[in-house]
Amino acid sequence: MPELPEVEVVRRGLERWVAGRTVGEVEVLHPRAVRRHLAGGADFAARLAGVRLGTAMRRGKYLWVPLDDAATSLLGHLGMSGQLLVQPEGAPDEKHLRIRIRFDDTVGTELRFVDQRTFGGLSLHENTAEGLPDTIAHIARDPLDPAFDDAAFHTALRLRRTTVKRALLDQSLISGVGNIYADEALWRARLHYDRPTATLTRPKSAELLGHVRDVMNAALAQGGTSFDSLYVNVNGESGYFDRSLDAYGREDEPCHRCGTPMRRRAWMNRSSYFCPRCQRPPRV
Ligand SMILES: [Zn+2]
Repeated sequence: MPELPEVEVVRRGLERWVAGRTVGEVEVLHPRAVRRHLAGGADFAARLAGVRLGTAMRRGKYLWVPLDDAATSLLGHLGMSGQLLVQPEGAPDEKHLRIRIRFDDTVGTELRFVDQRTFGGLSLHENTAEGLPDTIAHIARDPLDPAFDDAAFHTALRLRRTTVKRALLDQSLISGVGNIYADEALWRARLHYDRPTATLTRPKSAELLGHVRDVMNAALAQGGTSFDSLYVNVNGESGYFDRSLDAYGREDEPCHRCGTPMRRRAWMNRSSYFCPRCQRPPRV
């Protein structure tokens, strides 16, 4: 499943390859891919035709392209397996091509939304006064956003009766941190995933945020990481890479810091990977 760095790679691809272009014909090839556009596929295609696309924006794992009326945005949900591909016009259709957006220009490429499992999709939404699509107005800023408020994040952590990994995955508190990066940042901060947030000191939460940013920036520098080989970036190049992770996916392998075998625990329908020595469970 794409996480923030993968989505940022896609955003950059859209910024480079489709910003400023005017939409021509739009083909919706599968109704599920536009199910979040409540007025339906025909309305989606009709409203997009003739509009100029702005510069792609991102908050957390959410990606959108403002339209030239500034009141509406094209929101992309990559879901589990969604891909946005810029392909030459006339290139053979992908097996799971769901939406094709042609452009009214002579560049010779088109934008394709391809999604095997069809959890993702595209939809049009009104913008809030802040310029966000209305359906994501509740999503918190992500830690790479220059306007992210570190002090407010710490205060919110202290006030919530929750545990640290739950807090990291809470999109209303901090967005864009998925399971892989949460486990990596917690390992670096030597924090157990079940540590109550009310026990975190200001320096510890600042350290944790720093590790979250470091892990994300390292992944971004390498083009995003993903364990889903279906994930492909906007140019069709695989975002998968064999970056050596310190925690995620390393059950029974030695901790990179102390050599203790890493453990995996079932956690909220997912897994948490941690070092039992460096990341001690909280005392109850
Ligand atoms: Zn260790």
